[in-house]
Amino acid sequence: MKNLHNALLLKRLYQLKEFGYKYTSEEVFTQDDQELLELPNSLEALKQQASNCHLCSLSKNRKQVIFGEGNAQANLMFIGNKPLEIEDNEGKIFLGRGGEMLTAMIEKVIGMAREDVYLSNLLKCHPLANKEIHESEFHTCKAYLFKEIELVKPKIIVTLGEEAYHYLTNDTTALNEIRGTVIEKENYSIIPTYHPNFLLKNPSLKKEVFEDLKRVKKMLV
Ligand code: SF4
Repeated sequence: MKNLHNALLLKRLYQLKEFGYKYTSEEVFTQDDQELLELPNSLEALKQQASNCHLCSLSKNRKQVIFGEGNAQANLMFIGNKPLEIEDNEGKIFLGRGGEMLTAMIEKVIGMAREDVYLSNLLKCHPLANKEIHESEFHTCKAYLFKEIELVKPKIIVTLGEEAYHYLTNDTTALNEIRGTVIEKENYSIIPTYHPNFLLKNPSLKKEVFEDLKRVKKMLV
């Protein structure tokens, strides 16, 4: 909420600067802004709000906002990093070969349907050329993700890839060092593992991910 407030404040101040203002003592937030600052308490309304978001520069090139999807009361949530181009084109999260691999692992290793878990990303908009996430983009967008977590209330969050783990926990330990452990937070446990798109290039690491997901299955019993 504080980050959303700051991002919106900066955006409005830049707009005023472009209009030639050197300083302002006026209230810079409009009525629309006040509504944006109140994040809704349902996933559907949150998705609707995010779909009109222009808080960071990623909004300029995205085709559509890729919000999380799945069971709104899931015990298990997966968090990746950012939407791919195919997802931006088709309007759905975790598509392509990586998405298919993730779906297969959820079904075959954990024994659940993809629709029974909740899937989301750090960022809701596809960055051009798949560039790495900029810290400011995450800090602008994270209010949506944290609200999703607050609403879904998962018991376990599987972070997919180093960026997802680092940004969610603020811990910069390398993924190959932290993987294989369970990080306990106040309301949920985090299992860090590799992103399926990374596994496509490094298939020898699949067995580590299988181990992580078998642990998830045991924890869910
Ligand atoms: S990435 Fe997040 S903060 Fe940036 S425009 Fe998209 S929804 Fe808004």
